[in-house]
Amino acid sequence: MDNYKHILLAADFSEHGENVAARARDLADKFQAKLSIVHVMDNLLITDSAYGSTIPFDLDLTAELMTVAKKRLCKLAEQLNIPEESRFIETGSPKLEIIRVAEENKADLIVVGSHGRHGFALLLGSTANGVVHHASCDVLAVRLFEE
Ligand code: AMP
Repeated sequence: MDNYKHILLAADFSEHGENVAARARDLADKFQAKLSIVHVMDNLLITDSAYGSTIPFDLDLTAELMTVAKKRLCKLAEQLNIPEESRFIETGSPKLEIIRVAEENKADLIVVGSHGRHGFALLLGSTANGVVHHASCDVLAVRLFEE
């Protein structure tokens, strides 16, 4: 088996996301692969706790959320030593955008958590499940254990 050359970490900023991020960094180091990161602002989940509880209630909520998401992405990317050109922030369907970014940037492994959120999101289907079934490259689903 060839080594992976470009690993894409899908980050949702959930509580357990650090384990997923650490696994992606570790794999990239082991394979001496490039590591990129993507976060997708899900249109359906604008009140998700991923962005913290201090979202002001003004009309330009999308711009506010984008600013918070960019800051969180930047912080995580810096912790993981991921350079700016390898950080992607998108809007839309997480599953579709993760797959699109992976294809456009020729990632050969996508790393996701197996359960980053609960409740309503589960009714819509799991992002991890969608990525596993539709990505054209390998996908590692890191098992996330609940407390
Ligand atoms: P879920 O299927 O929603 O429980 O999420 C499982 C995993 O999919 C998470 O641990 C992330 O790796 C990835 N993921 C979910 N939502 C997003 C998002 N908005 N942006 C990037 N990755 C995501």
